[in-house]
Amino acid sequence: MKAFKPERVVFAADAESSRIFFNLRRAFPDVPFERVDDVQTRWHELKPQADQFGGGKKSLFLTRHKGEFLKKCPGSSGQVCCNYFVINFASNCPMDCSYCYLQEYLAENPALKVFSNVDDLIDEADQLLSSHRRFFFRIGTGEITDSLALEPYIGFCPEVIPFFADQPNVLLELKTKSDRVDTLLDLDPKERVVVSWSMNPESVVAADEQLTASLEERIQAARRCQEAGYQLGFHFDPMIEYPGWEEDYRDLVERIFAAVDSRRVAWLSLGVLRQTPALRRAMRKRFPATRLSTGEQVLCPDGKFRYFQALRVGMYRKMVAWLRRSAPITPIYLCMESSEVWQQVFGFVPACEKELGATLTAL
Ligand code: SF4
Repeated sequence: MKAFKPERVVFAADAESSRIFFNLRRAFPDVPFERVDDVQTRWHELKPQADQFGGGKKSLFLTRHKGEFLKKCPGSSGQVCCNYFVINFASNCPMDCSYCYLQEYLAENPALKVFSNVDDLIDEADQLLSSHRRFFFRIGTGEITDSLALEPYIGFCPEVIPFFADQPNVLLELKTKSDRVDTLLDLDPKERVVVSWSMNPESVVAADEQLTASLEERIQAARRCQEAGYQLGFHFDPMIEYPGWEEDYRDLVERIFAAVDSRRVAWLSLGVLRQTPALRRAMRKRFPATRLSTGEQVLCPDGKFRYFQALRVGMYRKMVAWLRRSAPITPIYLCMESSEVWQQVFGFVPACEKELGATLTAL
């Protein structure tokens, strides 16, 4: 996987004493660092480029986060929800998948952003977890960034994993398409951390997941994490339909479970390609050659295009059958799908989001 190197690091004066600043300095000795008192002004000064979103992956801002770090996952209107919380420790991603929804969500962002006040993040998580000890949380860090793509440069995991590992009522999920797991391997996750990978066949990785780790690199990183005591997760999302997809996805499942022990896999999820009209426009502009914006899709009630329901159900049923051969008892769930699709694929619909969340944490 290609190393990341920004063209500049812009840091707020009050972020200079943080551990992450120290780590960035050490990681990028020959990158210009700019110290600013007014981050907002510098943020807006970065000139718009022809491809502002793509250009925004070349600068990195380090600043204190002023709002709340923890949020309930927004899910998607009318779809079955899995009761998940997210921590936003950074925004934007150094990789560049052609279907990435950040192209719409962070379209105007001129830079990557990392937050320096990890101590505030831990205080906030501590308050939430300690005041609801009877509730079991799943919390992820990969909603508006990749959980591990910046890890070798910022060293976020050694700051937070020891805290989460000591909590009785949480699973922290680190979701990635990278292989950057080195900083995790000497930590003790104490059954409280799931490292998960978004997986696609090699042909999809090569065509539509630019700058990510190859399939083999992801599998080997997962194997190393499992050996180091982490639970694993795999997300087959977005699944792509194309001539030959069945053979490719069946091989993908077999390759993964030839390398890792399914008994230490916490969950598996499935979701098909979905795009809002705005994301479709962004994809066509930034990745005109991608096959993902061709083919028939229907606009669903949540405002996202998906494959026809019958096609989706068929794809999910096949994947569930292949997964069940290798991972007979691992929980499988659908991401952002309707109750009708759940019913057709699994023969049931979770009674509520808490029931689905509880199924996924009953380890
Ligand atoms: S790895 Fe995830 S966050 Fe990064 S570009 Fe791809 S889809 Fe977006």
